[in-house]
Amino acid sequence: MNPARKDALLVSLMGIGLGLGACSEERETRPLEAPNILLITLDSVRADVLGAYGHRSRFRDASPSPRIDQLAREGLLIEQAHATSSWTLPSHVSIFTGHPELVHGVEQDGHEIHASLPLISETLKAEGYRTAGFYSGPYLDPAFGFGRGFDTYEARYGDDLRFAMEDLRRSQAALDEAEKRGKKGELYTALASHARAQQAVETASHRDRSSELVADALIEELNKPARGRPFFLFGHFFDPHYDYAPPEEFARTFDPDYSGDLDATDFIRNPAISHIRPGGRTRVVDERGLQHLWALYEAEVAWTDSQIGRVLDRLEKLGLAEDTLVIITSDHGDEFFEHGSIGHRSTLYEELVRVPLIVRYPRAFPPGSRIEQPLSSIEIAPTILLAAGTRVSGLSGVGLQAILGGRSPGPVFGRIVTTQETPLAVVDPPLSGARTRVLESFRKGRIKIFREISWIQPTEKTSDKLTIVIDDLRLDMLANEALNWTLLDASPDEKKLWQEFEHEEEAQALEDFRRAYQTFLGQRRSPGRVAVTGDVLSALSGLGYVEQEARIGALEGDDLVLYPPKLPPEEIRLRKSKIAPDVPPY
Ligand SMILES: [Zn+2]
Repeated sequence: MNPARKDALLVSLMGIGLGLGACSEERETRPLEAPNILLITLDSVRADVLGAYGHRSRFRDASPSPRIDQLAREGLLIEQAHATSSWTLPSHVSIFTGHPELVHGVEQDGHEIHASLPLISETLKAEGYRTAGFYSGPYLDPAFGFGRGFDTYEARYGDDLRFAMEDLRRSQAALDEAEKRGKKGELYTALASHARAQQAVETASHRDRSSELVADALIEELNKPARGRPFFLFGHFFDPHYDYAPPEEFARTFDPDYSGDLDATDFIRNPAISHIRPGGRTRVVDERGLQHLWALYEAEVAWTDSQIGRVLDRLEKLGLAEDTLVIITSDHGDEFFEHGSIGHRSTLYEELVRVPLIVRYPRAFPPGSRIEQPLSSIEIAPTILLAAGTRVSGLSGVGLQAILGGRSPGPVFGRIVTTQETPLAVVDPPLSGARTRVLESFRKGRIKIFREISWIQPTEKTSDKLTIVIDDLRLDMLANEALNWTLLDASPDEKKLWQEFEHEEEAQALEDFRRAYQTFLGQRRSPGRVAVTGDVLSALSGLGYVEQEARIGALEGDDLVLYPPKLPPEEIRLRKSKIAPDVPPY
């Protein structure tokens, strides 16, 4: 960086002051020429699979990510970057809005980003940027609110998946028609064909290979004449998401001597890998098999890395590398039985929330620089807006330029909401309720706090009978809360959790958690509802993604209190009934 410019940057940053990012305002000296911006999100890539984060492959002493590693050497690497959730939709909303899940409120299938939350694409377009985005996973669909502010925003799926999705749409239309006509025989035929089409979409999606198509689309955009306008390009690379089915030339690279017959197709349901049981998963695969699965995951990362390399090469060839802010990150990690499961969207342990965050823009970030302190992906939006010289106000995150200048970052906060049917009584027909589980995490230095609450509500189908068969006491027994913390350096696997918050460091972390929580709650938006045209949700359910929806109405407003670690039982009951007002009083 030019020393004079660095001084100017620091001076302007010093004037910003300290404090929580929320409700503050930042403005960098407006660059003479606004930089181009290239934002790349990888799907399901944990930080510790990349060479830039110190990883070497077990069977082949090499990094799976030479191009991303090179980018890290040329730019800034965040050593402890955290996604705000462990699944695609809420995590990407955080990247695009600069807010954690508790603020943006998009935490269930079918939620749409609130209209009052501007996306960086909208802000940049208003600033005169040419904007284009290309995605390859279903949760990036415009139905969820993505795509706002983009001149071009398109999916790039492989042929097999595109054809399967077209089939699914046709079968959905046939099913709708059969339902209208009401003839039983036709309905059964339509249902069966719809189920087959959903299965075909799921199979095709998990095996879909789209990195080359996304890279092609980005390169095509780069080749367009600038006409005096900077660009904002977004590319989402889905391939590292399971199934781990890399191209043949990559598949054997990271485990060349493997002689078994295990592969990672149908990864989540493959009985040679795990068995699904009520409330969890039983591991079947042995240690060597698991190492092979990891090697296939590395191969997917390597394949994606090579495609990103093509985009970076084009940037270089066009002479744009110096004038382009490049950001590479991921939306969440993937677990490999560290805590008893595989895939993602179930916990907030480090293997699921520690993601890469690498930024190259020599005008603002000295090559080879590092930030050690824990940060969040909510820092990405303000970093982009600061670099573009636009006004940054009201975001929960803090720009990396400001953090390098000494400003305190925002809280590192994670959240996941899940709902599933839970059996409540063995009668005929069996009765079940919807068990909602809210898991939250907060990182302060080496302390990580976990908070978990869960409760059961009658579902619409069972509510009448439920109140007869299940008394309040039983529902009370099925409600749970827990507040724990762990020391990441003493217990890196997060298996050892403490419940007391006795000493100064823990007590302070808990106090910070409460304060940040209250700040976020004050800004919380209710998500919109995705217009159910059948297409998107049908495709998602075909992909095996849609879960039953939580009664999110019960989660709004002041009812989301942060529990003190110890409460008298009466107090706990009172608060529980506040959280889930639809549950009969305890
Ligand atoms: Zn994802």
